[in-house]
Amino acid sequence: MAFVITAPCKNELAAECVEVCPVDCIEKGEDQYFIDPAICIDCGACQAVCPVEAIYYEEDLRPEEEVYLEKAKEFFSNR
Ligand code: SF4
Repeated sequence: MAFVITAPCKNELAAECVEVCPVDCIEKGEDQYFIDPAICIDCGACQAVCPVEAIYYEEDLRPEEEVYLEKAKEFFSNR
């Protein structure tokens, strides 16, 4: 399981999440930040500081937001 960054991050790119992540698993993509689901330890620190409420626990994603987990997996698999 992991936390996932969703649509409100697009064009906001606030980046507070990057500063607080204890395992350094958040990276900037083309138009949003992504959390590496293979490294995230589910601490929730990023969710607490996101100013646009873009971050959700994987199990709390609405069906239309599940694509953002797939985008994150794809982003990190291409490194
Ligand atoms: Fe990093 Fe914790 Fe957010 Fe996972 S839940 S991305 S470990 S700050």
